[in-house]
Amino acid sequence: MADAKSQYILHTESVIKQYKQYDEVVTAVDRADIKIEEGEFVAIIGPSGSGKSTFLSCCAGLERVDAGHIYVRGQDITKMSFDELSRFRGQNMGFVFQRHNLIPQFTALENILIPTLMCNRKDGSYDETLRRLVNTLNIKDRLHHLPSELSGGQQQRVAIARALINMPQILFADEPTGNLDRANADEVLDLLIKTREEIGQTLVMVTHDMNIASRADRIFRMDNGILTLDRDYLDGKRKTITGY
Ligand code: ADP
Repeated sequence: MADAKSQYILHTESVIKQYKQYDEVVTAVDRADIKIEEGEFVAIIGPSGSGKSTFLSCCAGLERVDAGHIYVRGQDITKMSFDELSRFRGQNMGFVFQRHNLIPQFTALENILIPTLMCNRKDGSYDETLRRLVNTLNIKDRLHHLPSELSGGQQQRVAIARALINMPQILFADEPTGNLDRANADEVLDLLIKTREEIGQTLVMVTHDMNIASRADRIFRMDNGILTLDRDYLDGKRKTITGY
């Protein structure tokens, strides 16, 4: 039987993450709770150094928490072994970062296909997804180029294709448009939102850009490791939706 937590695609309970810096302990994330429903677009905003990236990395299973629980599709990822977590991530999650972390020696196509290798997917099982992503992201004629031969916008589109090739149910994006100019940033965001609508994906995005955040269903604010829902934004959005 599905437990109550599985009604949310992402549900965190009192997550704490600390770092040691010299003699001091920095609490980067301080008892953060969030509940995100399948298909939602949630933005996390807040000042630099407030803990946004750390929280996102914890939710994505890239960092281990010091306390608390993180349920993704009802499963507590804080309890998983390294191997279980790697497999679970490959099957359920995608990641896009500000610095796209493409492997410089690999072509765009090879970079895009890395997650399929990690999930042991057979050749051909992702052909249709690849074709669609390459068309949507407009990178067809760049596939056999190295990252250094691509523009910043093209590199980020390749990183998005890599994040989406396994069609993850949840996509984590950390300032995905942070190093792009306005036109490229808008284009990349449009593509993320379009793909999300096509496959009913959940999108959790850290951004400092209110233009981007204002397209989310809900905005959370991180301040000194403390995460809160922006209720003013939510109420405004409800008014727009219901037409009051
Ligand atoms: P944001 O994404 O909001 O800019 P971060 O999550 O990157 O904030 O950082 C939150 C706090 O945690 C900061 O004080 C930062 O210096 C600290 N921090 C982040 N990562 C590390 C790390 N790997 N080692 C030590 N301190 C870190």
